[in-house]
Amino acid sequence: MSTAEGYPPRAAAQARTLAEMDALLVECRACPRLVRWREETAREKRAAFRDREYWGRPVPGFGPTDAPLLIAGLAPAAHGANRTGRMFTGDRAGDLLFATLYELGLASGARATGPDDGLELLGVRVTAPVHCAPPDNRPTPGERDTCRPWLTREAHLLRPTLRAVVTLGAFGWQAALAALGEAGWTVPRPRPTFGHGVRALLTPAEGPGDPLAVFGCYHVSQRNVFTGRLTQDMLRRVLAEAAHAAGLRVADPPRSG
Ligand code: SF4
Repeated sequence: MSTAEGYPPRAAAQARTLAEMDALLVECRACPRLVRWREETAREKRAAFRDREYWGRPVPGFGPTDAPLLIAGLAPAAHGANRTGRMFTGDRAGDLLFATLYELGLASGARATGPDDGLELLGVRVTAPVHCAPPDNRPTPGERDTCRPWLTREAHLLRPTLRAVVTLGAFGWQAALAALGEAGWTVPRPRPTFGHGVRALLTPAEGPGDPLAVFGCYHVSQRNVFTGRLTQDMLRRVLAEAAHAAGLRVADPPRSG
């Protein structure tokens, strides 16, 4: 276990596979505020989950290690992924994301309740630029930067198959572009601005290779959904477009009426 700020770049760099990286990641204690919060939340629990054991540690990415499509959110939710130990699993934001991936044929089921629910993602991996639950869902820029080596390494290890990235929210967009720039792609200058439906094309920094399409999408947070800023149809369209860019086949959207 490491409390040192130097731990993420050192440990991430030595991981040769995503499994190795995840094993090192869950030992990380580099952000004191987030370590306190994730553990306090895990001790105190929400009443509805009082009898459950919380994970209370950094949450690794979830999905195949040869995924052509990566979805990067913000950070684990205190009573969602911080409880279940699996990204986007156990909260409303994840419910919408997985239900939409299922409709598109990119997940084996529509519900995600915990790591033993049997859910499989098909060609898609979900992750976050900050791997520990932050108070008020707000990591600081310093915490984002401290955690970046993990996302950089994840993108680097996915690189042979990765063709598209969807970032959920402006925070994820900025963090992902910085990490992808460090993982071997050239980010256009000036750096593209986040917007829902915006698409940026990154080219390999060295040698030939396929470009990487990066898509912006409003975050699947409850607030965005309640206020109508993000509808399921909006989410479905961005995910379908990104899946096409990644070379994945998607199912026809459900018919209304
Ligand atoms: Fe480590 Fe990232 Fe968690 Fe900070 S947020 S303690 S860098 S895993």
